[in-house]
Amino acid sequence: MGNQRVYNFSAGPSMLPLEVLERAGAEITNYQGSGMSVMEMSHRSKVFQKIFDDTQAKLRALLNVPEGYKVLFLQGGASLQFAMAPMNLIGRTGKADYAVTGNFSNLAYKEAQKYGQISLAASSADKNHTYIPAQDQLKLDPEASYFYYCANNTIYGTEWQYIPETGDVPIVCDMSSDILSRPVDVSKYGVIFAGAQKNMAPAGLTVVIIKESLAGHELPYTPVMMNYKTMIDKDSMYNTPPCWCIYMLGLVLDWLESKGGVEGMQAIKHAKAQMLYDVIDSSRLFTCAVDPAARSDMNVVFRTGSDALDAKFVKESVEAGFTNLKGHRSVGGMRASIYNAMPTEGVEKLCDFIKAFDKNN
Ligand SMILES: *Cc1c(COP(=O)(O)O)cnc(C)c1O
Repeated sequence: MGNQRVYNFSAGPSMLPLEVLERAGAEITNYQGSGMSVMEMSHRSKVFQKIFDDTQAKLRALLNVPEGYKVLFLQGGASLQFAMAPMNLIGRTGKADYAVTGNFSNLAYKEAQKYGQISLAASSADKNHTYIPAQDQLKLDPEASYFYYCANNTIYGTEWQYIPETGDVPIVCDMSSDILSRPVDVSKYGVIFAGAQKNMAPAGLTVVIIKESLAGHELPYTPVMMNYKTMIDKDSMYNTPPCWCIYMLGLVLDWLESKGGVEGMQAIKHAKAQMLYDVIDSSRLFTCAVDPAARSDMNVVFRTGSDALDAKFVKESVEAGFTNLKGHRSVGGMRASIYNAMPTEGVEKLCDFIKAFDKNN
């Protein structure tokens, strides 16, 4: 079954570890003697509550989440957080700072403008989002209720290599496409959020890690479902949580632990990305426009310089057993998304394919 799988370089939803899929498959009709699938269980049942608690505990342990922070399992995708964060946090001063370094931070920046006075702390639009602004390029307002940035720019292939220094201003960070790929000092953040479908679980779950003291100051019209305080008080179960995705996250976290946790994953993912960048940089045909100091270990963008050759590359890559290497429509070229679940072997084979294409064209 497993050996007919393709190397799927999709930006999201993306590959899940084969071991995880096989375990889920084995348990799909009867979860550990319960006589039912996790998909059929009451979210209030003891057996599901244990799955929920264990998954939350595993995530806390892997990311070293300190006391005073809550891990929430929500819905609505990362995109709902673009509204939820300002609605809950901007009330303190009515102002917030945003760094726009790609498509998703730009969407968040625009959405936030409905709820308060939003300043552009930095933008990389002047160079088509091929770099990450340095600390001294950030225009920070000490009165801001929070500072917002997106850690990994899934479409443009850049990744912040530092945590911005913002003084007393809490940081809100979209980590959808690089969470669990490297250790992170959670104590430096006010809110971390991530849609699950890149590096964690199937689509339908959004993980939010929030400093509890920041909740409870939401704008008066904040829907109850979008109030961090509600979800903290109800431990993410004000209503039915995405049960199946939470279960799948638990399996992924077990797998991650077996790979050495986030420290282990950091070494693996960096080696995978470096292998790919080295092949691109030493080729005749391919280039990566991203500033080497800002290159993402998760989404590698590259191109030949000819639309016709890019199309040929994508077409032949499919015939060779790779999928989803076509770049995002707003950037063109190619993009290889190599999240945690992409085996090293898949990247090695892609490197061989790139080298052969480079030689033959
Ligand atoms: C995919 C992605 C999003 C959008 O996530 P949804 O769950 O589809 O709303 C937001 N931010 C980043 C960085 C992403 O990669």
